[in-house]
Amino acid sequence: MNVAAFPVTPPVATVLVVDDDRLNRVALAELLQPDCRVLMARDGASGLEILSREAVSLVLLDVSMPGMDGYDVLRAIRAAEDTSNLPVIFITGMSDAADEERGLLLGAADFVHKPIRPAIVRARVMAHLRLARQRNELEALASLDGLTGIANRRSFDEAMERAIRQTMRTGDVLGIALFDVDHFKQYNDHYGHGAGDEALRDVAARLHGFARRGGDLAARYGGEEFVLLLPGCANLEEVMDTFRQNISDARIPHERSATSNWLTVSGGGVVLPAMSPAQSREALALADQLLYRAKAAGRNRVLVERA
Ligand code: GH3
Ligand code: MG
Ligand code: MG
Repeated sequence: MNVAAFPVTPPVATVLVVDDDRLNRVALAELLQPDCRVLMARDGASGLEILSREAVSLVLLDVSMPGMDGYDVLRAIRAAEDTSNLPVIFITGMSDAADEERGLLLGAADFVHKPIRPAIVRARVMAHLRLARQRNELEALASLDGLTGIANRRSFDEAMERAIRQTMRTGDVLGIALFDVDHFKQYNDHYGHGAGDEALRDVAARLHGFARRGGDLAARYGGEEFVLLLPGCANLEEVMDTFRQNISDARIPHERSATSNWLTVSGGGVVLPAMSPAQSREALALADQLLYRAKAAGRNRVLVERA
């Protein structure tokens, strides 16, 4: 069962039409409105402004506009992290193959020609929306751990890079917490691998509950190890100890544990100071050392340091 079901399909796709010709904008909006939410911009700058605050699924972009032309707008769309994969369909009055080639090389998904043939435009927009949705679904699946349904190692690595860049900008601290299930080999040996899998799903679901804010992430780091990424978290030790307690309070029987009657976890955490250029690998290595020390000191405990 996936605990981190992604909202992959927004109920209605939002399409942004950028065209300096009002009649064209209105014609395209009327054409798409039955199936999509349509936003309109009369020039490139206001189109980009809308993209910076709205979740848009596809852009219909006029090539020739005063000021920024379609190529400039497309370049800006590709350069911004949030929109780098956004499908863009060029609307062009020209039927010049060189222009079309230039647009496709810049990353346009498709071209439609003026005068607009409504059925063709609709069909192309719908086809590209479907492709984008399928790609998003695949990406979401590829970022999840198959057993537990929370984020996998790959998406943790990406989130970690993003978080470090973000803390460099905002000056926030970054909390990184590694957890490892105690005596889990014994758990498997005694209760069976299926029960072990079930316990890992339970631990993952509980950890997922600790990723509450926007940039937070709970991930399976590998095997019976988990990681929690908490940008801006100054009280990491408290949060980690609450999770540790939460697991032991779940009272998952573990007769073979030398630590407790119940399943427990140990944790190592690092708070990266604000604006630190610290390498993520070093921070993780330190968290791992602390985890190892928490194990050696008797397990079912957490150790936290500032990097
Ligand atoms: P420690 O308290 O020192 O962490 O001891 P441990 O037994 O937990 O550590 P060890 O690294 O020796 O064993 C980890 C075990 O986790 C062994 C491995 O079979 C089990 N494990 C790893 N991934 C999975 C999984 O996906 N499902 C199940 N059921 N077990 C797993
Ligand atoms: Mg381990
Ligand atoms: Mg372990």
